[in-house]
Amino acid sequence: MTPFQTCRDTLVSFDGGERSSVEVARPDKLRFWSERDWRAMPAAISRGAGLSYAAASFGAGAVSIEHAYYNRILAFDERTGELTVEAGADLWTCQHFLLSRGFYLPCHPGHGRITIGGCVAADVHGKNPWRDGTFSAQVRGLTLLHPDHGLLTLSRDSNADLLALTCGAYGLTGHVLTVTLAARALESPGLRLTRRAFDSLAEAFDDLRRAVRTADFAYSWHDLSSKRGTHFIFSAAADPDAPPYAPGQGSEPPPLPAASRRRSPVGFYNRASLPLLNAAYKWKTRRFREARPIGMIDALFPIHGSEIYFSLYGRKGFHEYQALVPPDRAVAFVERVRRGAAKRGVAIALCSAKAFGGEGRFLRFAGEGIAIAFNFPRGRGGAALMADIDAVVMELGGKPNIAKDSRLPADVARACYPGHEAFRAELLRFDPRRRIRSSLSERLQL
Ligand SMILES: Cc1cc2nc3c(=O)[nH]c(=O)nc-3n(C[C@H](O)[C@H](O)[C@H](O)COP(=O)(O)OP(=O)(O)OC[C@H]3O[C@@H](n4cnc5c(N)ncnc54)[C@H](O)[C@@H]3O)c2cc1C
Repeated sequence: MTPFQTCRDTLVSFDGGERSSVEVARPDKLRFWSERDWRAMPAAISRGAGLSYAAASFGAGAVSIEHAYYNRILAFDERTGELTVEAGADLWTCQHFLLSRGFYLPCHPGHGRITIGGCVAADVHGKNPWRDGTFSAQVRGLTLLHPDHGLLTLSRDSNADLLALTCGAYGLTGHVLTVTLAARALESPGLRLTRRAFDSLAEAFDDLRRAVRTADFAYSWHDLSSKRGTHFIFSAAADPDAPPYAPGQGSEPPPLPAASRRRSPVGFYNRASLPLLNAAYKWKTRRFREARPIGMIDALFPIHGSEIYFSLYGRKGFHEYQALVPPDRAVAFVERVRRGAAKRGVAIALCSAKAFGGEGRFLRFAGEGIAIAFNFPRGRGGAALMADIDAVVMELGGKPNIAKDSRLPADVARACYPGHEAFRAELLRFDPRRRIRSSLSERLQL
């Protein structure tokens, strides 16, 4: 029996790989955090929107505490662009609030339902991590509740080490209650988006690395379904003639948790369907062969409206392997994954890359390189391919994204993250009783 109200629920990692029946608390009062002696409470882990591909917000006998009702914007300073929000506030709400005041958060992941707490905990990246770094670069401070330490205020001047540990700690340092972020003033009302096509992967990656120097957003898309392949670089830069922001712009994102997705028993991505689906994508994006203005909301949330992409994997779900590799090994990485997929009979539904930067401390997915993501259906071939890619990533000196993979083994994480041991040691020093834990923390032996 937990000393606060919980219910039993089945939570599923976003990739569909892990499913657990756990106790979930959905508090809606501020006094939830202050009225009890947390030292006597059971093990717990915070949960945002549940959109982590890994089981990062549930498991290991811990109560999942949802922050859905703690979603208010608390303060905004028009002079400095500093925004303070409750950790359950989502990106859709924050970006609309900021855009209406001539600001935005430059570093943010692509779906509006993702929460600020989830962004801090996974130290997420946006669409130009080479220039903007990762989410921690825009975090000015936060408040953290830990059962044994009480309520702590962390900033770059006070408790700075704990702030650094918390950004990218997957919720394991405690419950983030509020976050103060540095928003950036808009340079122009919107952006101009261009699509450039390449036959060669090497040329596409060279173009991507050039693009990030001047663009606000830059990412690639690769058609791996045909031998010859097509490689697109999408880049967007400030455009004074772009449509200005208007309240209500963009369509409200649907909730996306894996458990609520309609899942057909069979998946739609296979070697017969992918050439057709890729041809449809090329056709859909053809208007960007010429640079076109787009509004900020469309630029910030390109996935909105295409959520069916995830449902089409079917009931079993999908794998994502995203790895950060040194730039001179990026082509070899893609080629080896492509060959491995052919050998395993796996259809790669999506391959996309971003040029990276940021500080890759502890478990942060950051550092100089190119981050390349592959999506493919879950199944026996997919599982074998994931293990093959682990070996390739270790050999090429890469780093897999912990947030994107619900099965990443501890030995691979340890081999690829030089900060794994230091993170574990710091966490143990701060929380010797390990009051906060999750399936992810158990699997990665943190
Ligand atoms: C469609 C889609 C697109 C995505 N695009 C990107 C992308 O471009 N870049 C990228 O980096 N990631 C991306 N992601 C991954 C996503 O940004 C991260 O997994 C993020 O952590 C999910 O946040 P959430 O609110 O869903 O948190 P959850 O999945 O609920 O939790 C994630 C982690 O955050 C912790 N957490 C949540 N709230 C708190 C809190 N208040 N206090 C302490 N810890 C907390 C949890 O314990 C857990 O460890 C994408 C995911 C999806 C589904």
